[in-house]
Amino acid sequence: MANQASSSSTALEVLIEDEEFLYGAESGWVEARTSCDHLASLSSDLVHIPTPETPCNRCHNPSENWLCLCCKEVLCSRFVNKHMLEHYQKVNHCLALSYSDLSIWCFSCDAYLDAQAILQLHPVYETAYILKFGQAPPFPTTDNQAEASTSGN
Ligand SMILES: [Zn+2]
Ligand SMILES: [Zn+2]
Ligand SMILES: [Zn+2]
Repeated sequence: MANQASSSSTALEVLIEDEEFLYGAESGWVEARTSCDHLASLSSDLVHIPTPETPCNRCHNPSENWLCLCCKEVLCSRFVNKHMLEHYQKVNHCLALSYSDLSIWCFSCDAYLDAQAILQLHPVYETAYILKFGQAPPFPTTDNQAEASTSGN
């Protein structure tokens, strides 16, 4: 009696609190972090980034995409085909910028990052903002830099 135990435990889906993510993004009450321990993985060349119209590199979804700030790949959100999330899980690139609202998310911190408060994020935020809106962001991105004196080697 070949009882083929069909171990068909179909891909169990790990549902990460989508709601929290969504509401946090939209309502603005979620506090964005003003620091992040993962900024070392930022790409060193964030001046040249793909345009916000770039489709997902994997599924060619045209909108709601994220820019990986580590390797500059454009990947779709967890509301589409989760390619950015997948990318993080595979290669541990945790920093991503949303091309829909320019928010910056750190998967490792599991939180939004305050692009205004974190100097390292200014260049890419500014570049993305200009690409998207055709003008510089409303807050001064270069003003406070004297304060946090450059600790570059
Ligand atoms: Zn995709
Ligand atoms: Zn990446
Ligand atoms: Zn982080």
